[in-house]
Amino acid sequence: MSSILTPASFLVSALFRREVLDLHAYHVPDSSGCIKLDAMENPYPLPQTLRVEIADAVASAAINRYPDPRAARLREKIRAVTGLRDGMDVMLGNGSDELIQLLAMAVNKPGAALLSVEPSFVMYKMIATFTGMRYVGVPLAADYSLDLPSTLAAIEREQPALVFLAYPNNPTGNLFAADAVMRVIEAAPGLVVVDEAYHAFARDSFLPHLARYPNLLVMRTFSKLGMAGLRLGFLAGSTVWLEQLEKLRLPYNVGVLPQLVAEKLLDHHEVLLQQAEQIKRDRTGLHQQLSEISAVRVYPSEANFLLFSVDDATAVFNGLKQRGVLIKNLNGGHPMLKDCLRVTVGTPDQNNKFIDALKEIITQSARG
Ligand SMILES: *Cc1c(COP(=O)(O)O)cnc(C)c1O
Repeated sequence: MSSILTPASFLVSALFRREVLDLHAYHVPDSSGCIKLDAMENPYPLPQTLRVEIADAVASAAINRYPDPRAARLREKIRAVTGLRDGMDVMLGNGSDELIQLLAMAVNKPGAALLSVEPSFVMYKMIATFTGMRYVGVPLAADYSLDLPSTLAAIEREQPALVFLAYPNNPTGNLFAADAVMRVIEAAPGLVVVDEAYHAFARDSFLPHLARYPNLLVMRTFSKLGMAGLRLGFLAGSTVWLEQLEKLRLPYNVGVLPQLVAEKLLDHHEVLLQQAEQIKRDRTGLHQQLSEISAVRVYPSEANFLLFSVDDATAVFNGLKQRGVLIKNLNGGHPMLKDCLRVTVGTPDQNNKFIDALKEIITQSARG
């Protein structure tokens, strides 16, 4: 962006809120021509038969009409695959990012706080900031587990209206201890949202605990499961919460085509689950390969990515990029992520290319 002061830029800085002017826009790097292992996307295409089925459904879709504002059919299918109990429902968002924003808008009385842990998903802080909420970030322990004493102390001190815990956590990949998360839910005076974006790759969930905790909501997304392009997330919980939140949802936030395609995919849910199983197996292999490189420290993961650290993350990131492999450089984002990188689990072939390139870079820098 230009720093030259034009009449428009004077007006912008006079008119816009300080919080907005100070924000850095969420940066998405150019990935053209790269093996793309930076954004936790599913690397597998859909089976050809399913693509044809989707194409047929799209061909006869009524895109001249507004979508079903309640997305009744899709919600029913989600209820079925998640096994939600009576009294519980789901609300759909244009990605789960939209649901985070909607929750913040709902509780944002003057002085209300949004609490999360750090390092975690950056959108919690970003959305707190641009909705004008007070943001409280509690550092994780050195091994990226929940620091329960300091989290409970912060809850007591700050009385947050909203707590977000990513389970598994992004970008660290680990699953917090379930009993520690329960202590947080019990201690919190407001809503606790357990963000299960990586649920398909993890061995635990808080969905079965919804009935037990009146202040708990569980959020999931289809993005990491192979539908990042659809933009679809959901919030599951008691209808008592969802009926109120519905008032804030823009009526047509999920379009005709995403509704239709998601319905088709849920009819073939086993395809997505098989892909997730494959990714979990390949995660084990990739973890093993990374752990055999002595200059690399790799962390345990229950997600479709691995966090690892090296001596000089930025040099490794740039070296990989030069070799056509794009991952995520986390160095500089948070002090606890110094020299950390995050790689999404790709196809076996992509993973091997990544490992080969990484070894080459590390061997060269050891010699140089
Ligand atoms: C990717 C991610 C999301 C956002 O998902 P969308 O549905 O694509 O908006 C939410 N939470 C966490 C922890 C994530 O990593």
